[in-house]
Amino acid sequence: MFGEDPDHIKYEIAKAYEELRKKRKDRDKAKDNGKDKDTHKEPPRPVKEVNCTICNDALYLRYDVPVWHSNFGKTKFCACKEKELREQQKQYLLKLSCIGTTAQLINATFDSFNGLANGVQEALEAAQKFQSSKQNFLVLKGHNGCGKTHLAVATARQYLENDKTVLFQVVPDLLDHLRATFAPNSDTRYDKLFTMMKEVDLLILDDLGAQNPTAWTGEKLFQLINHRYNNLLDTIITTNLSLDDMENRISSRLRDSHYSRYVNMDHVDDYRYYASVDAD
Ligand SMILES: [Zn+2]
Repeated sequence: MFGEDPDHIKYEIAKAYEELRKKRKDRDKAKDNGKDKDTHKEPPRPVKEVNCTICNDALYLRYDVPVWHSNFGKTKFCACKEKELREQQKQYLLKLSCIGTTAQLINATFDSFNGLANGVQEALEAAQKFQSSKQNFLVLKGHNGCGKTHLAVATARQYLENDKTVLFQVVPDLLDHLRATFAPNSDTRYDKLFTMMKEVDLLILDDLGAQNPTAWTGEKLFQLINHRYNNLLDTIITTNLSLDDMENRISSRLRDSHYSRYVNMDHVDDYRYYASVDAD
């Protein structure tokens, strides 16, 4: 193929050698330029991690029912999505509750409660055992400074630790809020907060009786308490009113010892003299 001319053969060899040298040079250059990015290899495909093996992260599941079933073809949330929604709801309710932001409530736990103050033992024991007790209502009655709000908040923390939803509301503020959201020109979905108050695992109504008694507030409170009473939903009420001073349709439910425990803390010394926490 090179013919017979030795000079031509030499020329061809020199040319081939030169080409090889150039190729090597180019290759080394390319290597130096892209040490980390090897352009000849396909980038590794990202391995998609699946968080939920039940729904493959689709978040919904189709009902596994026969064709004639009313749920046939319908979807439901997967447990993973339900867990996420519940966590969101929990955080939202906590935000509304001010337990984590109001200075006097932040440190209110059973550990920080002074159980040695005179007369608090019954209330402390009732609050600590409330979650496992047969009653769904706990009424802590007493003057300011007896420690009733502290105990209610400490109980709320116990529920939160057990993954329950909790809403703590000071009754006069709660009614102001509802009044504003029920107003005809309000943008807020009024029923949302009221529905949450009705459905939450533990509702704390702090300072019942301090509100301005109007027909409207009386009706709203009754609806709320009555719903929770009928549905056996855990509710703690702190108040400085005796049952006799309350509206009859509310007190009649709170008197029912099968469903409700009433603890009178009137004889408790001012809790704030004993504790470092300033909650009443
Ligand atoms: Zn899932």
